[in-house]
Amino acid sequence: MDKQPAIFLDRDGVINQDHGYIGTVERFEFIEGVLPSLQALRALQYRLIVVTNQSGIERGLYTEQAYHDVNDYMQQRLHQHNFAFDAIYYCPHDGQHTTCDCRKPNPGMLLAAQARFNIDMRTSWMIGDKVTDIQAGRQAGVGTTCLVRSGQDLPQHVLAEADWVLDSLVHLPAILSLEKKSSLI
Ligand SMILES: [Mg+2]
Ligand SMILES: [Zn+2]
Repeated sequence: MDKQPAIFLDRDGVINQDHGYIGTVERFEFIEGVLPSLQALRALQYRLIVVTNQSGIERGLYTEQAYHDVNDYMQQRLHQHNFAFDAIYYCPHDGQHTTCDCRKPNPGMLLAAQARFNIDMRTSWMIGDKVTDIQAGRQAGVGTTCLVRSGQDLPQHVLAEADWVLDSLVHLPAILSLEKKSSLI
């Protein structure tokens, strides 16, 4: 099977508004325009994979079941728009009680997806709203990193870490379709 590129997406601040720890469905709110954007990215033939740190679980702020409830709600809403992610990976650890390789900036979630889907990391993208998202992408060998301003309020020196800075995920499909066209020339 040919290797495929992927778009790795952080969740909170990229897909949904980051109101702090999102432990209930009531706190889950899609960022405007994200649903059609995901459909547009799907049409560009990328694997679409969520990689999300959920340290609120190990911190005891919400249970693992509560995480799954929120995740199920997100997926239901996406299904209503005929969209599904290829996979959703989460790290429940807080980086203090447990040493793990999944908590970003560690690359474990991305590498697990790479092995499972035979992903070509060089042509893949990592989209996030924190420097740790960008670092995880780099450590995993992802070719292009992108910060969005829809989540965290990022200082200039953090923005400078990424290859691209966009206001939100909404702007990504246009950039990727341009890249595809130019690679065909
Ligand atoms: Mg985030
Ligand atoms: Zn972890």
